[in-house]
Amino acid sequence: MLGATGSIGVSTLEVIKRHEDRFHAVALTANSQVERLFELCLEFRPEYAVMVDDDSAQQLHERLKLADIGIEVLSGIAGLEQVAALPQADYVMAAIVGAAGLEPALAAAAAGKRILLANKEALVMSGRIFMDTVRKSGAELLPVDSEHNAIFQCMPSSAEGGLAAIGVSHILLTASGGPFRTTPMERLAGIAPEEACSHPNWVMGRKISVDSATMMNKGLEVIEACWLFNAEPDQIQVVIHPQSIIHSMVQYTDGSVLAQLGNPDMRTPIAHALAWPERIDSGVPPLDLFAVARFDFEIPDLARFPCLRLAYEAIRTGGTCPAILNAANEIAVQAFLDRQLPFTAISEVVEATLERVSSRPAESLAAVLRDDASARQQALQLIGQMEGQSRA
Ligand code: NAD
Ligand code: MG
Repeated sequence: MLGATGSIGVSTLEVIKRHEDRFHAVALTANSQVERLFELCLEFRPEYAVMVDDDSAQQLHERLKLADIGIEVLSGIAGLEQVAALPQADYVMAAIVGAAGLEPALAAAAAGKRILLANKEALVMSGRIFMDTVRKSGAELLPVDSEHNAIFQCMPSSAEGGLAAIGVSHILLTASGGPFRTTPMERLAGIAPEEACSHPNWVMGRKISVDSATMMNKGLEVIEACWLFNAEPDQIQVVIHPQSIIHSMVQYTDGSVLAQLGNPDMRTPIAHALAWPERIDSGVPPLDLFAVARFDFEIPDLARFPCLRLAYEAIRTGGTCPAILNAANEIAVQAFLDRQLPFTAISEVVEATLERVSSRPAESLAAVLRDDASARQQALQLIGQMEGQSRA
């Protein structure tokens, strides 16, 4: 469980708890929340616990020792990579947020695990490298992102040979449109982090909540879908569906459209990916179609959501461009959450970073990480300039 203390991590542990006969957590990891991970260790009794931060790892180690619990505590990225490749771990839930999840997810891929992928940023950054690693090792990659899990469920078979070869014309990637779908445009600049983090339909971590509000989340998901389903960007149509009941659809050349529906609760895709090809109880209440009553669909407004346009442009450019987009976005979102940047400047920082950092073929992880670092530096510089201007 990479990212055990997060929103996806906790939902996953809830599903596991319902099926103690089938699943046992071998390792739990977190960034720096010592107390949270300690509690989870008490409850789930893994063999390993990893804290990325060294001091936090030391604190956790002492807490566990005092409580007389024999769990091995590791630290750093090396600790994450080690547990992601443990021989006794069959499945790896990749639920770290952002670029920090890339290396441990890749370690799981190289070790041939069943990877339950929530950490979309990993695939956005290193799509080809990630997919090649999965193919080479014989790992299994199951999407947990609700839309991609829905698409996976609606696909006839592997899309190795491209979508056309399996009779698929389009992927219809649904999006709620986030909390500001109908907010007057002139209000957007003054949006506070709390407003951006309160999503109408989903409860999620702060970073993905802001990404949903800018629709960068959907942009990252377009890129994620290109890699997972061997699709061209033009084969992916984003559909605004404010009810978030249809989690995505697949349109076939014969006119059929298959959809996966359900209550907006991540335990459904998590349970699906855990048990696939079987089905298990997830704890999610059954969908009441009469309570939902209606479905609406809209075309996304790219003027309102420039991040979605930038993501399409980045995947069309290819190479390290999506990694640059992702890195700039991570920095800009953090600055917005820290109240250093207005909401509408997130897309401006991303766009300006893309103009300043040139992309290249993503032929190695080192190349991806180099451009990721340049983009972060550039984005920070831009934010500094913007702050200076707004003070002047
Ligand atoms: P979160 O912020 O709630 O949790 C993040 C987890 O990652 C925590 O356990 C944290 O300790 C760990 N973490 C943070 N920074 C780290 C670092 N530098 N090194 C190692 N670990 C670190 O996030 P979340 O909402 O659970 O999202 C996790 C991932 O799943 C994201 O990539 C997100 O896009 C994706 N996802 C989330 C949802 C959702 O409903 N929350 C849905 C679809 C996809
Ligand atoms: Mg999603």
